[in-house]
Amino acid sequence: MGMDPFTLFERHINPGLAGLLRFTGLDRTESHAEGPYVWDTTGKRYLDFLGLYGTLNLGHRHPKVVAAVEAQLRRMPMSVRVLVSEPTARLAAKLAEITPEGLEMVFFGNSGAEAVEAAIKLARAYTGKPGIVTTQGGFHGKTMGALSLTPKPEYQDPAKPLLPGVKVVPYGDLEALEAALDEDTAAVIVEPIQGEGGIRVPPEGYLRGVRELTQKRGILMIADEVQTGLGRTGKLFGVDWEGVSPDLMTLAKALGGGVMPIGACVGRREVFEVFKQNPLYHSSTFGGNPLAAAAALAAIEVTLEENLPERALEVGGYLMEGLKALQGEFPHLIEDVRGRGLMLGIEFTDADIGALVVAELAERGVITAFGLNNPKVVRLEPPLIIGKEHVDEALAALSESLKATERALEGLLG
Ligand code: PMP
Repeated sequence: MGMDPFTLFERHINPGLAGLLRFTGLDRTESHAEGPYVWDTTGKRYLDFLGLYGTLNLGHRHPKVVAAVEAQLRRMPMSVRVLVSEPTARLAAKLAEITPEGLEMVFFGNSGAEAVEAAIKLARAYTGKPGIVTTQGGFHGKTMGALSLTPKPEYQDPAKPLLPGVKVVPYGDLEALEAALDEDTAAVIVEPIQGEGGIRVPPEGYLRGVRELTQKRGILMIADEVQTGLGRTGKLFGVDWEGVSPDLMTLAKALGGGVMPIGACVGRREVFEVFKQNPLYHSSTFGGNPLAAAAALAAIEVTLEENLPERALEVGGYLMEGLKALQGEFPHLIEDVRGRGLMLGIEFTDADIGALVVAELAERGVITAFGLNNPKVVRLEPPLIIGKEHVDEALAALSESLKATERALEGLLG
């Protein structure tokens, strides 16, 4: 039999995270998954309202993505790289077609952080300048370059020194951004909606403002769509809300259809010039491998065929109504509910209340998570394929969880 996997995780992978999982009652081992549901090894079923932070837009094991990966697995899962992989080349063309006007070139990696690393290197090579401006509460990954753009002391401090040339400005503030730009600035990186930062929606006009400011100053705009991309917010891309076309756009998470890991940095042709003189300036052995590319092609097809952005808007609106009603019922627990499409956040009046609610929800078979970046906010990012019946199921569990949390707090206060 051997030791149970949770204990192995705790001993050999991450004791700190194991402690957090134990606190929320998620000290379980997963068994299998289908659509919006996951089962643990005791047979308990959970409704997945976290969706791997915006990865599982199509739910778990979408049959069309699985079929595409199976077919590619039987043909050629791994590229030799000195020949061209057909699914990889087709995926690049597809991304050029569906991303905003002017984005035509693609670099493939295996994750969001790698997509961001590529964006940093491309921006520096193209402009010949070192500076990158990022935002407070922004999250761009945890590899050294991406980490340097993720201003969170808990993540950054033990890893210092970071990349030089990074400036941090408040999110949503165009004046502060303008003041931070100087002759050393290569690029500005922004999330259309901050995810890890606690589902922060910027003021109307912010993305357009960033575009105008950067354009005026000859600085690149990098839109980090790792979490917002591919329908999550109710449009295919987060920048579509303001009709903005950045110079570089990073994608990952949902791009692999919830089946394969893949990351992509999509950009303007001129920004990719460096590869003409210097073909191996940036590369990754597994980046955009045929299996991942086949998954991504199928994922894009399903996303468009099933109108998932529209569906996210509709089902997300219904979920938001339910959340607002619960906020009205429990104003002492819930401070704010916000977001767009199916990228929603519940801000609790206190971080511990959020943690208690997450634990109560897990008990009732609904998976969510509080962000370590902004612990007062519990994020809801369910698969975009869910229906109103799943929302009703989650809202019923949330209502019960809020009542249970209230009882627990009353008990604590005597
Ligand atoms: N950018 C954004 C906006 C993200 O939300 C994330 C992951 N949460 C990343 C980058 C990093 O992606 P990965 O974990 O795949 O490296």
